[in-house]
Amino acid sequence: MTTTVAQQYKNYIGGEWVEPSGNEVRPDENPADTREILGLFPRSTAEDVNRAVEAAAEAFKTWRRTSGPQRSAILHKAANILEQRAQEIGEALTREEGKTIGEGVGEVLRGVAILRFFAGEPVRPIGEVFSATNPETFLWAERVPLGVVGVITPWNFPVAIPLWKLAPCIAYGNTAVFKPAELTPLTAHLITEVFIEAGLPAGVLNLVHGSGSVVGEAIARHPKVNAITFTGSGTVGRHVYQVASERGAKVQLELGGKNPVIIADDADLDLAVEIVTSGAFRSTGQKCTATSRVIVLEPVLKDFTAKLVERAQSLRVGPGIRPDTYMGPLVSEDQREKVLQYIEIGKQEGAKLLTGGTALSEGEYAYGYYVAPTVFADVEPQMRIAQEEIFGPVVGILRARTLDEAIAIANSVRYGLSASIVTRDIRKAFYFAREIEAGVVHVNSETAGAEPHVPFGGMKESSSFSREQGRAAMEFFTQVKTVYLDMPPAQ
Ligand code: NAD
Repeated sequence: MTTTVAQQYKNYIGGEWVEPSGNEVRPDENPADTREILGLFPRSTAEDVNRAVEAAAEAFKTWRRTSGPQRSAILHKAANILEQRAQEIGEALTREEGKTIGEGVGEVLRGVAILRFFAGEPVRPIGEVFSATNPETFLWAERVPLGVVGVITPWNFPVAIPLWKLAPCIAYGNTAVFKPAELTPLTAHLITEVFIEAGLPAGVLNLVHGSGSVVGEAIARHPKVNAITFTGSGTVGRHVYQVASERGAKVQLELGGKNPVIIADDADLDLAVEIVTSGAFRSTGQKCTATSRVIVLEPVLKDFTAKLVERAQSLRVGPGIRPDTYMGPLVSEDQREKVLQYIEIGKQEGAKLLTGGTALSEGEYAYGYYVAPTVFADVEPQMRIAQEEIFGPVVGILRARTLDEAIAIANSVRYGLSASIVTRDIRKAFYFAREIEAGVVHVNSETAGAEPHVPFGGMKESSSFSREQGRAAMEFFTQVKTVYLDMPPAQ
């Protein structure tokens, strides 16, 4: 490895790359090899947030009046630029977040699809026309933007999540102050470059790097930020909700999950194993929609368990940049510690560790945050490892005697993001889809799949009842104006 001096990055405010107000920076490390520093990023202050909000408020005055076709053209251009840069940005994502290169480039291409969908939105209908009591009244209700929107995002989908917030935000005529997670500032920088190259006017998108407690907090509290779209953990999300809604801002939260897969007694077990392996271990289990509980009907419990353990042991763990890697490292030291602690908790609670359960730190793993794919059996529904989000490559197997019992276990957590069943029986599939408490339901596919053009979001504590992506995004990013236009009397 060669050592190079890390580049120092800036914020993007009012159409310019600007120095932050303070001198503090944070090194952005590669979690697969911490000797590689990808850049030094500003730890900005409330003063920087204020500048960004002022720039966004100023830009809103003109951006809200741009025509739909104009906004559409910019988003189409951004999609094309992102597509051209997919390999480069996908690699940066892999180096920064740790997921495999296939997942990294795949996520960027998903971002392209998101941009293309939202490029269509400004030229689709945005309102309704009504018949008024007075026949001389023209009465319509239209969707208009909110103003300045704070966009606060996590590190686990550092391209897709910012884009599925920024694209609708901009498409519907709002301006944005974007605060990415501190662990993934480089991808945020690259996305911003794409919008600049696409010709987005100054001030429409402002990027402020820094910590949640300083920069995120300042955005949540700023009186000129009319709305906050937040994805992240429940604890932080609820705090942001409280702070921002108290001053009257509109808030949208997408939070954690504890996503179950039910394996019915008629399931194709090879398919079931693939669905669970991919759902639990892809992205190193760091997806809000990752599979963390497998609820298996007794007749197939033994066979399924043996096959899953064999498959988990066959997975190639390593740096995501290697094309043959199935599972990369955890994103950070803290995240690895948290996962190892949960593994200890699982053992203490009496769950049976079947495979994995340890950090990998020898040889090629020496400089990364690796944990072996981990499977627990004999997990009981009330155990902490069955109730709390672990956000790592750990899956627990629970036993059920009937489908009703399996669904009751699946629903016995405070989350309700995604859920899946593996079955050949159409009646079981329908029954499951009706009874399961989840915002995203799969039958014979993994909990983690989501199309970019359909509503996405969770029930219960996984969300704040709003949905992202697809046309559902309009609900959050706009408000309704109803206009009564009476004909003046004829002269
Ligand atoms: P996090 O809550 O720690 O951070 C999320 C963002 O909030 C970051 O940008 C952080 O800097 C910021 N933040 C922290 N403190 C803040 C404060 N006081 N005020 C304002 N902002 C603040 O979450 P994370 O660790 O980055 O992400 C992992 C979590 O995200 C998991 O719980 C996961 O399930 C969830 N997630 C949910 C979805 C979904 O769509 N439901 C998608 C991906 C991730």
